Amino acid sequence: MADTVEKVSTTEASSSSAEAPIPAEITEPTTTEKTKWGDVEDDDEEEANAVSELNSLTIKEESVLDEPEDSSIKAVTSGETPYTSASRFEDLNLSPELMKGLYVEMKFEKPSKIQAISLPMIITPPHKHLIAQAHNGSGKTTCFVLGMLSRVDPSLREPQALCICPTRELAIQNMEVLQKMGKFTGITAELAVPESNHGVTSARRAHVSAQVVIGTPGTLKKWIAFKKLGLNHLKILVFDEADHMLATDGFRDDSLRIMKDIERVNPKYQVLLFSATFNETVKDFVQRTVKDPNQLFVKREDLKLDSVKQYKVVCPREQNKIEVIKDQIMELGDIGQTIIFVKTKVSAGKVHKALADMGYDVTSVHGNMTQEDRDKKVKEFKDCLTQVLIATDVLARGFDQQRVNLVVNYNLPTKYDTGEPDYEVYLHRVGRAGRFGRKGAVFNLLLDDRREIEVMEKIERYFEAQVKEIKSWNSEEEYKSALKEAGLLDE
Ligand code: AMP
Repeated sequence: MADTVEKVSTTEASSSSAEAPIPAEITEPTTTEKTKWGDVEDDDEEEANAVSELNSLTIKEESVLDEPEDSSIKAVTSGETPYTSASRFEDLNLSPELMKGLYVEMKFEKPSKIQAISLPMIITPPHKHLIAQAHNGSGKTTCFVLGMLSRVDPSLREPQALCICPTRELAIQNMEVLQKMGKFTGITAELAVPESNHGVTSARRAHVSAQVVIGTPGTLKKWIAFKKLGLNHLKILVFDEADHMLATDGFRDDSLRIMKDIERVNPKYQVLLFSATFNETVKDFVQRTVKDPNQLFVKREDLKLDSVKQYKVVCPREQNKIEVIKDQIMELGDIGQTIIFVKTKVSAGKVHKALADMGYDVTSVHGNMTQEDRDKKVKEFKDCLTQVLIATDVLARGFDQQRVNLVVNYNLPTKYDTGEPDYEVYLHRVGRAGRFGRKGAVFNLLLDDRREIEVMEKIERYFEAQVKEIKSWNSEEEYKSALKEAGLLDE
């Protein structure tokens, strides 16, 4: 895994993208003290060295050091402000209440790579905008939640921070993190999702006095339009999973509208935009809306999670896929929580029945269920009341459950219209296992047909991924050694 930061000037950055990293000057590490990250394995001497370099990195104009070949995060700062990477939360001058939230409630020990680099940029005046490419499991939620909490003035009972999310699930999840992390601060927060008005129309609902508001674009837009959500004191606006959000025209227009509304009353606010991928839509949005941002990019080849081992199995018949899950994967031992991704409700039903018949506590989540039911099932899984969750892609993004060690792709993710692989969804599915550098495995179950095999090959090429083949679909030995290799079964 790569652990260094590059820094390049803003002029170069304007033509840059995550896919095509820019030639860079790199800053100099100031100490060689060895420390261990929360999100990397600590058994590799070389890695530990690289990590310590990043820990102590000073992101400062004009300073240069040798570029290691595996540098993974590119920081592009705008303007003269020098930023020092935070190797400890103490380096961030946070309030004692926030520190307590981080240590006591969140049980964090030290910032992750992206936190170490982004938090100083977010928190240090003049509070420049930040565009960050951050993938799931990297600790990005903390970047913006802590960013929002640290910028709110607790004595001012007005909305000061706004976070826009593509789905209500993500908004709820971010709210949970905010409330936990901010538990001792007394900072108030409110969710702005379609059900937040409790049956009253947006026009008639009460004024929002919460200091942080997290929600989906449509509801936020309505609250602003009806003057229920005041923007005069807004200091910070966050876009979470911007690529997902901006993929829909409606979301994009709502987001632009909200930004215009804020700018009108309050031109000096800070924008943080987080996105797993920087496609043309996101780049275009950024160019049109966010002036002179600091930027963080992760190279594409580093997007896959190295701690997750990926396997593929070619099954002669559909029924064999169920047998693989049932007899090979699930029966081999206690491998922690598992998510099985399927394309259709019918497949969900089949897998569900097969596993339930064997006595597993299984639940399924798909788009045809009511929101209430979906929330309930997700909560049961998060609370570890169930071990196996069968899901369509409603869950592929953003869902955070630390104990998930295993992801099974019962069907590979493909685009509905073209049948081509959906690379982003694959990345997000893989991201469900091995959160925050924990061990994990992904089994891709393929039918023995040219199309499926081709889709898998394309995914492998796209991510330059090592996806090992389980040569005979019903060989217990091969599954055992795969799970051992992934660290999920004892030797
Ligand atoms: P995220 O990418 O923000 O969804 O975070 C992934 C997981 O990592 C979450 O379960 C976080 O609670 C956890 N996490 C984030 N930051 C840290 C940290 N500094 N130390 C330990 N765990 C963390």
